[in-house]
Amino acid sequence: AKMAGRNAVRFFNPQMQAEVSRRAEMDAGLWLALEREQFVLHYQPQVLADGRVVAVEALVRWQHPERGIVPPTEFIALAEENGLIVPLGRWVLEAACMQLARWASDPSRADIAIAVNVSARQFRHERFVDELADILERTGAPPSRLEIELTESSLLADVESVIARMDALKERGVRFSLDDFGTGYSSLAYLKRLPLDQLKIDKGFVRDILVDPNDAAIAKMVIVLAESLGLQVLAEGVETDAQRVFLAGQGCDAYQGYLFSRPLPLEALEAYLGMRRLR
Ligand code: C2E
Ligand code: CA
Ligand code: CA
Ligand code: CA
Repeated sequence: AKMAGRNAVRFFNPQMQAEVSRRAEMDAGLWLALEREQFVLHYQPQVLADGRVVAVEALVRWQHPERGIVPPTEFIALAEENGLIVPLGRWVLEAACMQLARWASDPSRADIAIAVNVSARQFRHERFVDELADILERTGAPPSRLEIELTESSLLADVESVIARMDALKERGVRFSLDDFGTGYSSLAYLKRLPLDQLKIDKGFVRDILVDPNDAAIAKMVIVLAESLGLQVLAEGVETDAQRVFLAGQGCDAYQGYLFSRPLPLEALEAYLGMRRLR
């Protein structure tokens, strides 16, 4: 009886109940949002050492009718849990490929790639490769301009099937980048087997890179590792020129962060790219 009493108290904890109903509301809201086309992509430039913008990362936002722009940190984890990430991720890939196809016919944009985040659950979906191949064909996007950002958690279990999927898409020209590198647990032996093109140094290591020797050591190690595996290396979350200079001194190839630009809606991105060409 004591146990039941304790459980009952926990169940009716008003704070918990508020959290449960907030999540239920969010859950339902997210599915409706996809149906009502309330998601939108913002794009953050990725910049080479010489200053050229060669790619942009597509970052999804929810344009909520009352709450305004809701950032993905507030809904991606829930979408991964409730399964929405599969159709939402498909929408993101389709929107990015449509944009790539538009840029492909514009000579001033023809060399720009789009990096798209793909969740573990989405990447492991049995139809993922077929659906992406279909999207590429339908939109006419050049596959070599599409880069898929995976995290270590997508790659951990079932290596053979992960490699088979990556190979099938690589044959079409799609590129792969390992996101948030350093925060997971991949072994180096494992990393060597994956057909990757790029490692991304997590912004958690970049933030304090000038003051925390541990973060600096990890960033250096990732750069050396990328070089020895023949991969490009990009640092994310670069906010100051001093951070960029430090990373450049270690041999980093590319940068992304507020130092260059925040993620931008399409029109603002077009203006940003136009300005940079004129400099
Ligand atoms: P991420 O893939 O690591 O993306 C980088 C995040 O860092 C973005 O947050 C970006 O706005 C932010 N950022 C960029 N530059 C800086 C900087 O200089 N300083 C700091 N402090 N932050 C910076 P955002 O847009 O809120 O996205 C958060 C996460 O949501 C992403 O992290 C990614 O894991 C996920 N996400 C976003 N879009 C998608 C998507 O279409 N599909 C999936 N599966 N996940 C997505
Ligand atoms: Ca990313
Ligand atoms: Ca990241
Ligand atoms: Ca630190």
